[in-house]
Amino acid sequence: MEHNYDVVVIGAGNGGLSAAASSAKMGLKTLLIEQHNLPGGFATSFVRGRFEFEPSLHEFCNIGTADDQGPARQLIDSYGVAVEWVPIEDAYRVITTGEGADNLDIIMPFGEDAYVDRMEEYVPSSRPSMEKFMALCKDIMDALAFIRKSSGKVDTKVMMKEHSNFLKCGGYSVNRVLKSLHMPEKAQRILCAYWCYLGVDCDKTNFALYATMLYKYLQTGAWIPKQRSHELSAGMDKRIREMGGDIWYNTRAKRILMKDGKITGVDTSHGTINCSHIIAGCSPNAIFGEMMDEKDVPEKQKRMVNARNFGGRGFVLYLGLNRSAEELGLKDYSYFIYGSMNTAKEVARAKDFNDHPMQATVCLNVANPDCSPKGTCIMSFTTLYTQDVWGDISTDEYVTKKREVAENMIRDFEEHVGVTLTQYIEEIEIATPVTMARYTLNPQGTMYSYESSDWDTLLARLMMLKDDQIVPGIRFAGGYGPRIYGYSSTYMNGDLTARLTATDIREEKAL
Ligand SMILES: Cc1cc2nc3c(=O)[nH]c(=O)nc-3n(C[C@H](O)[C@H](O)[C@H](O)COP(=O)(O)OP(=O)(O)OC[C@H]3O[C@@H](n4cnc5c(N)ncnc54)[C@H](O)[C@@H]3O)c2cc1C
Repeated sequence: MEHNYDVVVIGAGNGGLSAAASSAKMGLKTLLIEQHNLPGGFATSFVRGRFEFEPSLHEFCNIGTADDQGPARQLIDSYGVAVEWVPIEDAYRVITTGEGADNLDIIMPFGEDAYVDRMEEYVPSSRPSMEKFMALCKDIMDALAFIRKSSGKVDTKVMMKEHSNFLKCGGYSVNRVLKSLHMPEKAQRILCAYWCYLGVDCDKTNFALYATMLYKYLQTGAWIPKQRSHELSAGMDKRIREMGGDIWYNTRAKRILMKDGKITGVDTSHGTINCSHIIAGCSPNAIFGEMMDEKDVPEKQKRMVNARNFGGRGFVLYLGLNRSAEELGLKDYSYFIYGSMNTAKEVARAKDFNDHPMQATVCLNVANPDCSPKGTCIMSFTTLYTQDVWGDISTDEYVTKKREVAENMIRDFEEHVGVTLTQYIEEIEIATPVTMARYTLNPQGTMYSYESSDWDTLLARLMMLKDDQIVPGIRFAGGYGPRIYGYSSTYMNGDLTARLTATDIREEKAL
């Protein structure tokens, strides 16, 4: 039987689901293939004993309330997917365990004014520079909205006239811009606490990227789906089919088929599919390095792939505890525990194993009290590695190492938050970068696709949108796409790539 589609989407992670939904909604004949038996990639759930764990999501940004919707909620709603969203109360509690200025324990709220007020409490006289920072964030958001609307054809004259602040500081690092605002050093460091959501230090993180991420969290808060991110992914599956799209699970893309430099189809574990357009929710390394003949990959494309670095590789410890959050004394949802507030130092520590890995830890029940049976709670402890250290571990060392890292993280949490967890552990699961690589096929188990730093930032990717499609007919929808990684961004990437693909198809037909 012949299978003919306008678009084949490879991988049902957030980006692939969004691309397939958008493509089906626009009336394109769409097939989504996924090697696993479930949708979502990282956006899923798993069950151990009486607990259903959230594998990845801590904070989904750009959701907002039903009355004041953020762009991600608008997009998901536009697909017709109903999700029960649960708000997170505070932005973060950050604990740093060093000496002097590196010994902090503070809680920062959502809301622009509340954030500035709280900063003033912790760092007197920070207000003027914080207000300037917020105004700059707004300018940058406006500029990005303009770039987004331009779909790859940015009018540089308008940019220079109306978005000059963006051009002035968009290319600099976070630290450089914060210094130029004369922000007190302590405030700069508190403001940079979200660095672990990007995995890059603030000397290298692009200001526009960080500013928009933080500002979006402050403006619209953070949210999670009540039934884990699987609720969203399962809802997407249903709507893609209802809108006329097909989904094949347990189907792995193996080869990209080409003739005379043009895409003609995809060879999969379930046969050949004919199509002229592919939206990849998997990595460019897999597409160009494994699925295409080397002769078909343009030199520029090879250089582009080789020049990029993988982002942080994730390690997560999941605990199901037989005491409630209140009984354990856990009042906060999100805890960042760092050795210091110096992001360069922290990133350098994450290059290798160390006895006190940084951690971004969440107690799900604080935001979502009914997520586990009464008298219990769920926690997840995440750390990241900026190098492929888990790739060098021998099979014999693997189990010992993962237990060691998990024990270190529990010990540090107990010590610095002042709670006891160990004796109440009922279920324990550990996902290393090796687990993540096997589950999602992301190279080296990266949870942040390609690192977004230096030259390869959100800004550069958006400005180069038009030139970034080196092999006609292939675009990247997930974390490797133009708007980079993260839940909100991958959903946006999916929609953007589907719309660009629809334009390509229309233009081809018009020829
Ligand atoms: C522990 C952790 C915590 C995180 N916390 C947050 C957070 O709080 N907020 C946030 O915004 N982001 C967070 N992220 C990041 C976020 O989860 C990712 O950026 C996002 O889910 C990536 O989506 P994606 O579309 O790139 O696809 P992925 O989730 O990487 O999925 C790719 C899919 O493609 C499939 N696939 C790959 N190759 C093939 C093939 N050849 N054939 C068929 N199928 C294939 C895979 O099976 C997989 O389903 C976190 C990630 C992790 C791991």
